[in-house]
Amino acid sequence: MTRTHCPYCALQCGTRLEVSPQGLTVSPDEDFPVNAGRLCLKGWTAARVLAAPDRLTSPLMRPRPGTAQRPVSWETALDHVGAELRRIVRAHGPDAVAVFGGGGLTNEKAYTLGKFARVALGTSQIDYNGRFCMSSAAAAGSAAFGLDRGLPFPVTDLASADVVLLAGANVAETMPPLMQHLAGADLIVVDPRRSATAERAALHLSPAPGTDLALALGLLHAAVVEGHLDHDYVAQRTSGFDEAWRRAAEWWPERTERVTGVPVADQFAAVRMLAAAKRSYVLTGRGAEQHSKGTDTVSAYINLALALGMPGREGSGYGCLTGQGNGQGGREHGQKADQLPGYRRITDPAARAHVAGVWGVDPGDLPGAGPSGYELLDSLGRPGGPRALLVFGSNPVVSAPAARGIAERLAALDLLVVADFVPSETVRTADVVLPVTQWAEEDGTMTNLEGRVLRRRRAIDPPPGVRSDLWVLRELAVRLGQPGERFPDDPGDVFAELRRASAGGLADYSGIEPEYLGSTMDAVDAAGPAGPAYWPYPAGGTPTPRLFLERFAHDDGRARFRAVGHRDAAELPDGTYPLHATTGRVLAQYQSGAQTRRVPESMEADGEAFVEVHPDTARRNGLTEGRLARVVSRRGATVARVRTVASLRTDTVFLPFHFPGAGRANLITNPALDPVSRMPEFKVCAVRLEPLGTG
Ligand code: SF4
Repeated sequence: MTRTHCPYCALQCGTRLEVSPQGLTVSPDEDFPVNAGRLCLKGWTAARVLAAPDRLTSPLMRPRPGTAQRPVSWETALDHVGAELRRIVRAHGPDAVAVFGGGGLTNEKAYTLGKFARVALGTSQIDYNGRFCMSSAAAAGSAAFGLDRGLPFPVTDLASADVVLLAGANVAETMPPLMQHLAGADLIVVDPRRSATAERAALHLSPAPGTDLALALGLLHAAVVEGHLDHDYVAQRTSGFDEAWRRAAEWWPERTERVTGVPVADQFAAVRMLAAAKRSYVLTGRGAEQHSKGTDTVSAYINLALALGMPGREGSGYGCLTGQGNGQGGREHGQKADQLPGYRRITDPAARAHVAGVWGVDPGDLPGAGPSGYELLDSLGRPGGPRALLVFGSNPVVSAPAARGIAERLAALDLLVVADFVPSETVRTADVVLPVTQWAEEDGTMTNLEGRVLRRRRAIDPPPGVRSDLWVLRELAVRLGQPGERFPDDPGDVFAELRRASAGGLADYSGIEPEYLGSTMDAVDAAGPAGPAYWPYPAGGTPTPRLFLERFAHDDGRARFRAVGHRDAAELPDGTYPLHATTGRVLAQYQSGAQTRRVPESMEADGEAFVEVHPDTARRNGLTEGRLARVVSRRGATVARVRTVASLRTDTVFLPFHFPGAGRANLITNPALDPVSRMPEFKVCAVRLEPLGTG
């Protein structure tokens, strides 16, 4: 039996793997407190992807552009990629090669990918799909608290909460085992849809898509005028309230109702519930974050929490429910365009000197900050843009906004290399495909949504022909003229180096002994003598399960209110596109679906693209339950099966984003970017509906 963690979401549920002649079986780890013996459908069936019939087991290459991918040896594939990268860098400079990573990569892979880009390629053009996930919450959390750790407290603290406000988080479908920790709390759910989580709420607030920020400002207004402001806390632990209040003062309840559709009575009910509770939390998810004003929206919710004196108090607080499995660790160790390991700013001279010292290079040779994920993808193959792209652990053909344009950008490249374990839609477009290991076949660490560093443990051998991402990166680095020892392919060696690189940074892992992680897996996961390995965990220090209890991470120890004002979504409904479209997830599928669409149980539960429409809206547009419809925006059209849902707003349709081909929800989404986080506006765009034949 091997104890490890689910390969999917940021909850990182503990699992036990049993190997038998019939294959691998997964069961929940009763002793891991985050899931406490529970898993969702995706976790129970995670072993299916290891044995996917179309698993990639050999490198693939196209002999010539436009021809089919053919199996080749590793040597042929790596030599070809190395030669092409050298040619492109020689002809166009290092920024002609770009790298796109993923929030599911282990810490060791994310760290090595960032180092590979900056040292072996010398490119600034690296970002990752976490930019599409929690970047707005990361930016708002950093601004407010001086540090971004999704939950600055253990998940299990939520179990004693009296009230939890969930803003744009459908926990019952995306992280079902988390619901056990919310069972004792009254839930306030902010979601335009009556989601599975909203069904269980004591109070459901249903703002029009794109008006979440106005609602958060209105809630702060209601809290202040009703006398719930925690004056002592605001005076002693925060700064900037007056400026923030001046903006929120404009959002009196009737105006908030007019803009958001949330009744005045519900606004007051929400703040009374929060203010009356002894222990309460505000948690945000993608629904609040994936907007062209996502950072401001999260800041407005943090402002509300600060006004009520919640963050930095045991039993209360603010947190972001990070989405991807290693969304937290993935943004800490250098695959983000503007960061170096340890959550350091790449523009900080001291950070550059420290990391360059660990890497054995001159700080002056490290490139600066590059473009964000969508901007990077959108620049591919354009004049002056990258000519080659390496993708690790991501499927942007399905997951990027305005997906048709991104597919065109990928097609314009001289070289597209994709490392993956299944033939995702992006793999199918690649010039070179490199088959790599997946979760139960590899060792490493993951950092879950609590900032808790966990051990991923190898239980089985990978199929013959498959290699680890770390090995691939070392082989490519050598072909680019790097000494092989600079790019270790043993996860333990990489973790040891990562600890040194992170030392002194915000996300300091230097106190986590590799043996500590290893030995504790045999007892209680990562619960060693000093307790679970929550960062920051400096060498010679102790882990930090709860942040901010004494002081926030800004130099003056205070949290900052951010003065933010509402603005409309980048695109509003009009005569041609009269409805809001919003996107999200279903329980059975994960992210772009590249993994879960290979799981029969997931496909049986939810196996094709659909669009939720209110029955009146369906009637008005000539749509029939169970038939196909086209959902058309200014960027294109997607095809989905109609599901009529009486609880949905009549001005809104909902599409899950897990499905490929003509059913890609991202064919219609708007790439308008948040000015701070550079998050695209996945959550709202304007569309019209058209019936499609009799399918
Ligand atoms: Fe896996 Fe997340 Fe489901 Fe837990 S909640 S089993 S980590 S997908």
